Amino acid sequence: MSPAPSRLVVLAGPTAVGKGTVAAAVRESHPEVWISVSATTRAPRPGEVDGVHYHFVSDAEFDRMVAEDDLLEWAVVHKAARYGTPRRPVEEALAAGRPAMLEIDLQGARQVRRTMPEALFVFLAPPSWEELVRRLVGRGTETEEERERRLVTAREELAAEPEFDKTITNHEVRRAADELVELMVGSGRPAQGPALLSDDT
Ligand code: 5GP
Repeated sequence: MSPAPSRLVVLAGPTAVGKGTVAAAVRESHPEVWISVSATTRAPRPGEVDGVHYHFVSDAEFDRMVAEDDLLEWAVVHKAARYGTPRRPVEEALAAGRPAMLEIDLQGARQVRRTMPEALFVFLAPPSWEELVRRLVGRGTETEEERERRLVTAREELAAEPEFDKTITNHEVRRAADELVELMVGSGRPAQGPALLSDDT
């Protein structure tokens, strides 16, 4: 059997479901996985480091990236700021044979679905709606107005689950991270469905 090909996984899911935390757990326990660092026009939160959590850029710089087609996808998230995936590093990681992961919002996932349909699209689901609300409120980093806006977005995002190839329920961060990596680097079983890269060659 030929070795498994390098695979791009796109992780999306409703706001506050814990995508960022799961991505951080993957980064920590599976250094072989390359994780994209997005560009954003939002301001850093306390503790966030430029170039590590995001590339924090000005509106003008983001405009330039869009104009020069530097972004694989981009979106306005929560009607508040722009976020996008720098294209080159993704292409380089895949060319180098590294399993690669994007942690992006639903609009971005849909764009990547159009341009890279061979990627594996994974939906991170909350254990329940109540738990999602609890996590959203519990984070406490947003204003009341922003939280309301995020809840509206979260309801819409939950409804998108059937668009995805796989669902992972985020009962526990480390378990979700392990399940995700298993999908990328393989458990010996090929993934099912249209995202399969290996079988037609
Ligand atoms: P936060 O501001 O809480 O870090 O992220 C807000 C949302 O932006 C999250 O749902 C996250 O998945 C999404 N996001 C982060 N980076 C990107 C990106 O590069 N593209 C898109 N489309 N969404 C992103």
